[in-house]
Amino acid sequence: MATEIPFLREFSFEYGRLERVAPGVRRIVAKNPSPFTFKGTGTYVVGEGEVAVIDPGPDLSEHVEALLSGLGRERVTHILVTHTHRDHSPAAQALKEATQAPTWGFGPHAGGRRGEAQQIEEGGDWDFVPDMTIADGERIRGRGWEFEAVHTPGHTSNHLCFALAGTGILFSGDHVMGWSTSVIVPPDGDMAAYMASLDKLLSRADGVYWPTHGPAITDPKAHVRAFIAHRREREAGILDCLRAGVGDIEGIVERLYVGLQPGLRRAAGRSVFAHLLDLHGRGAVEVDGPPGIEARWRLTGGG
Ligand SMILES: [Zn+2]
Repeated sequence: MATEIPFLREFSFEYGRLERVAPGVRRIVAKNPSPFTFKGTGTYVVGEGEVAVIDPGPDLSEHVEALLSGLGRERVTHILVTHTHRDHSPAAQALKEATQAPTWGFGPHAGGRRGEAQQIEEGGDWDFVPDMTIADGERIRGRGWEFEAVHTPGHTSNHLCFALAGTGILFSGDHVMGWSTSVIVPPDGDMAAYMASLDKLLSRADGVYWPTHGPAITDPKAHVRAFIAHRREREAGILDCLRAGVGDIEGIVERLYVGLQPGLRRAAGRSVFAHLLDLHGRGAVEVDGPPGIEARWRLTGGG
């Protein structure tokens, strides 16, 4: 029986308004709703007076202006970026110019390696280079708050979650969201890494996740477990397709994603591709020629 993911889509907010969502935590939602961003990018502000901003958002001047006007005389001391997608990091530039605060992140998009990734992905922000690079487990301190960086590659190779010390809060970026599963687009997106990063969160004791899109996840482990089960089922479905002789991504999407909106077919194909690369890495499937999006796949030893 298919796993029911307990999606959370009740989301109350007002565009352009910096609103308190938890003690010491405020959020302002950018007006960039889409099938990939839900209602838009949620930019978080942590602290009072001297604050950190997490995920400044898309290149939308009205969003940065609304954030700055919501902050009034408060000073931004840190700009944190969960990962380099265009709905998360581009506004770091304008925010940095306005506040002189340094930017913090794991590193540039795809480790700065353009080429294949740049051609396949539409969403990468290739311009963002953090002033301060942060590694897994590193701590970032400001006035009245401290974060622990949790490297969670998968959605992108440079994805970080930020745990707010002493609160049980984890800012989960796009790694774990309540409203949707995460999009995994190879080559920078990596299914094996994503699954390991889900396991990594299960080994932690965070009490509530605040993703960049949508509402808080108050039962995070149940949510993460459902995502793991969902991906394992998807993988089993792909193996069934290969067993039945359906070995091209388009055919697999048709069989597995019943009732999918046409606008999401491409993303579904990328996700199937991510699973196939993972299976290929584990020796479970074979491919003729280079393992690309147009390739034909079969079970290892399946003739
Ligand atoms: Zn993203």
